[in-house]
Amino acid sequence: MSDATGVLSANLAPEQAMTPEARVAGAMKGFAQEVGALSAFRLDSCIHCGICADACHFYIATEDPQYTPIWKVEPFKQAYKREASPFAPLYRLLGLKREVTADQLAQWQHLLFDSCNMCGRCSLICPMGIDVSALIEQARHAMFDAGLAPKELYQKAACQQATGQPEASAEPYRKQLLAIGTRSGVAIPLDKPDAEIMLCVPRTDIEQYPSAVAALARVMQHLGSSCTFRSDGLVAENYGYYAGGKSWQRDISLRLIEQAIACKAKTLLVPECGHAYTALRWEAADLYGKPLPFKVRHVTEFLADELQAGRLRLTQAASGKTTFHDPCQLVRKGGVNDAPRTLMKAMGIELNELKNHGGFSFCCGGGGGVLDIERAAPLRYRTMENKLREIDDTGAGTFLTSCSDCRRTFDDARTHFNWNKTPQSLLELVASNLSGAEKRT
Ligand code: SF4
Ligand code: SF4
Repeated sequence: MSDATGVLSANLAPEQAMTPEARVAGAMKGFAQEVGALSAFRLDSCIHCGICADACHFYIATEDPQYTPIWKVEPFKQAYKREASPFAPLYRLLGLKREVTADQLAQWQHLLFDSCNMCGRCSLICPMGIDVSALIEQARHAMFDAGLAPKELYQKAACQQATGQPEASAEPYRKQLLAIGTRSGVAIPLDKPDAEIMLCVPRTDIEQYPSAVAALARVMQHLGSSCTFRSDGLVAENYGYYAGGKSWQRDISLRLIEQAIACKAKTLLVPECGHAYTALRWEAADLYGKPLPFKVRHVTEFLADELQAGRLRLTQAASGKTTFHDPCQLVRKGGVNDAPRTLMKAMGIELNELKNHGGFSFCCGGGGGVLDIERAAPLRYRTMENKLREIDDTGAGTFLTSCSDCRRTFDDARTHFNWNKTPQSLLELVASNLSGAEKRT
């Protein structure tokens, strides 16, 4: 049975109402725009070996074949084979691939959004070298064009595109940022006309981890860096990216790009936020249409460079046996593997690596916007159990990460499972161990 919008039980906002025909047309148009030679090659190369399933924590946790990564793009593979592949006439003649329907697309909302973190682990393992995660990202674009992005992501993306903040009700982040500086006794550089480095901040830190915001300001002050936040380009996250809304993703990235250009920054420093790093480092130039006139660096990369240049000096941290969660977007998509370990080593930390660490690390479970999708929570918790077990198995008392959304996901698990670990920020630990600075706990 279909609902008033012509789809089965999709999680939609009222603004996403559309006829079934318009949904299919939107999805097909969106997907056709995405499928270039590389994607066609990827779709044609799959040998159906199923190995990607063994990389995906949603499949591992459930053993449900619907969570096989390549199956998540099936409606689009079906459309490609039927309409555009070299054997398309044969597929149509023999009825081997059916036409995609609005109900089918709506059912795939769960597979493309609720049960994919866009973590890229499947892409790493495919013997044919298919970047499955990139196909899923393209399929999300088509789902957005079909009005089928989950309502939580759609609404936050719409709000961020229009106002710069993902929540209309939140107190202006500019005000909150300055208040954090006052409470923490640290100067917040804001709206300087010229700066070498432009800073931005995860909304997660503004709302949930103000100590991480203060840590960033404190470290930059300690280094004597020429830097500034900009009121009109503050938020690091990109909900357009999560929702699959490519033009919104571009608009949201443009806010930061234009502000970095306005203050003549040579570096845009991405704070502890993994998906912000992917959106800015790897996708922003493409959406901007030309190379960015500044570097994009994650804060851990920046600090590791400062350490190696001798400008950052750290004291020994009393953190005891420690383990570290590598955020997927940093380590797998960005190759930021050594920087956090260099910083931990400089603080004398005894690092007990997770069984799957570095490039093979499992996602926290909340990435790709999954943490914000309410109905995805039961499956997310099920998926996380393996990760929490890995962390427990290290025997470490201190658990660090360098992405505030990973931190929020683990914090949420702490409450849900009554788990005894508190995820901590690597940046905050660095800020507490600045050589020559007053020791902070
Ligand atoms: S591992 Fe690669 S080739 Fe095998 S099913 Fe998955 S996408 Fe297809
Ligand atoms: S990107 Fe990650 S979560 Fe998504 S299908 Fe691949 S392994 Fe699974």
